[in-house]
Parts: sequence; structure tokens; C-alpha cells
Amino acid sequence: MTGLRDQFGRTIEYLRISVTDRCNFRCSYCMPLEGLPWLPKSDILSYEEIAEVVRQLAPLGLRRVRITGGEPTIRPQLATLVRMLRDVPAVEDIALSTNGVRLPELAPELARAGLVRVNMSSDSLRPERIASIARRDLRFDPVAAAEAAQAAGLAPIKLNVVVMRGINDDEVLDYARLTLERPWHVRFIELMPVGEMAALSADHVVPSDEVLRRIAAAFGPLEAVAGPALGNGPAAYHRLAGARGSIGVITPMTHTYCGSCNRVRLTADGRLRTCLFGDHEVDLRTPLRSGLPLEPFVHRALAEKPQEHALLARRVGGLRALSQVGG
Ligand code: SAM
Repeated sequence: MTGLRDQFGRTIEYLRISVTDRCNFRCSYCMPLEGLPWLPKSDILSYEEIAEVVRQLAPLGLRRVRITGGEPTIRPQLATLVRMLRDVPAVEDIALSTNGVRLPELAPELARAGLVRVNMSSDSLRPERIASIARRDLRFDPVAAAEAAQAAGLAPIKLNVVVMRGINDDEVLDYARLTLERPWHVRFIELMPVGEMAALSADHVVPSDEVLRRIAAAFGPLEAVAGPALGNGPAAYHRLAGARGSIGVITPMTHTYCGSCNRVRLTADGRLRTCLFGDHEVDLRTPLRSGLPLEPFVHRALAEKPQEHALLARRVGGLRALSQVGG
């Protein structure tokens, strides 16, 4: 095995696979209300093509995959892809990122197909507020969706909350309370200044240190814990005394974790992106459809994986200053 190492010696073992650019939500921090110029169907990798990318990366060191989007559950027959990925011998972990709307309906089938775990975005527990943040009223109950995932045997279950001052930060304690009652891992994510919220982001970012302080003030001290066994991503985990679940923070803006970044992303149209931000990418679809081996293209992409993400490098919006306020 040659191994997948980038120019800074980081080992790459984790691939995020976007199966569609489309979404049934229109969260203002993520996507314009009118949607995006969607990719034509012929540009989008088929499930067989996605599985072939994973089959070629597995001998190079790929161990874990995450299916994401857009919203992955709106692509038909997602379980078919899960089954194909499960059949790649070296792949140990298959996770899904979803907004949860279709989980009650799909979780049992996805679990049977080989899905291991799920991360669900959940910016609010209140139906009318979900509709206002997502700008779609899909009448959906995130707690019921997470319960459906749990009942299907998916574990661990992580809930991702993008905390926005004045928009949903009054629910931080409700989410913390949820971890007392349920074996779920709630992760508070710092808003990143992209999309329509970019200009306003400095007003809406709540540094994670402030989130943790607020929780500790209300519920008592938080103990630093290792976090769930599966998915050693960028979150730092804590636990309230007696809690069944944990509280994580993901701090893209106030603390860099790029130094331990072990991930790359496959876009729905087959580009391998080595950083969420910036244009560091290599087209895999053309060699894939020409029957060429992908390894040289992958190494070329990794040779250019940036040391840290562009938002951090540019110190966008004076967020360094905010992090100091946040302690
Ligand atoms: N639709 C799927 C979902 O809801 O998880 C997968 C894609 S979604 C873009 C992945 C995650 O990115 C979600 O948790 C979402 O909240 C987060 N996200 C998107 N834009 C963000 C931003 N500007 N700042 C912080 N997190 C963001």
C-alpha cells in the first residue's frame, strides 16, 4: 500500500462523497433561495462510478466514507450505493450526513444496506423556526427523525447545530438538555461566513467557547470526554454529569484543526476536492470514464491540499478578534 499522504504528511483515509448538489432545504447560510444552477444529470457520477472511485482509493488507504450532498436522501435508491460501498473490503465505516427529513422513511433500509451511522443537521427543535431557517416548511420533527435512526440501529447519532446569534442561539440549552435524556451527540458548529450570510456573519457567529460557558453556567461543569468511538472528526467533546450523550464543538473559525485534517471530498460531478474552501480540486470523472487508473490524479490532488482552509488564512470578518472575546 503506497498510502495517501499530502504534502504536509497528513494521512488521508476519509472521503466525503457528495451524491447530489440538490437540496430540499434552502438554509440561508448555505444555498440561495432560488437554488443553484443544478448540474446536468449526465455530469453526475452514477452509483457504479462512485463505487469505482472508492474501490480504487481503498488499496491506497481509504477506510471511511461519508455520503453527503446537497441532501443525499433526495437521490433515489440511496441504499443501492450503501450496499456497493459496503462491499468494498477495506471500507470500515459508512456514514451519512442528512437534514433528517426523510430519515423516518429511509433509516431501516439504509441500516440494512450497511449504513453504520448518521449525522443529522438540526438548527432548531421548533418546527416554525426550522421552516424559517431552512426556508422550506416540510413539517418535520428532528427528534422523531433521530429516534427513527436510533431505532434502525444506526450509531452513534450526531446532531449538528449551526449556532447563529439572534436566530437560534436561545436553543443551546435545549440541545444540551437533550444529551441528558438521549444517547446522542450534539455538536455546535460555528457559522462559517459563506453564502448570503457572509456579510452578516460577524454579527451571527457565536464562538464555541461561549456556547460551552453558557451550558456550564446553566447545568454545571462539563467534563472533557473522548467522544464517540466512531468518527474522530474535528469536534472536541464534553459531557454533563449523568448525561447519556455528549456535547461537541466544531470550531472552524476560532480554532484551526486543519493540521489534523484527514479528509477529501468527491463532488457530485466527480471532482476530488482537497479542502472545503478554495479551488483545490482535480477532475476524476474524465479519467474514470476513459478507463484510466485514478491513482496519479489522486496524488496530484493531494500534492496541492492546502495547509489550512482559505477562510482561516484570510482571517475573514475579524473572527480572530471574536474568538478572543469568546475566551
Ligand atoms: N444536507 C446534508 C445535511 O444537512 O447534513 C449534507 C450537506 S450540509 C451542507 C452539511 C453540513 O454543513 C450541515 O450540518 C450544515 O449545517 C453545514 N453547513 C452548511 N453551511 C454552513 C455554514 N455556512 N457554516 C457552518 N456550517 C454550515
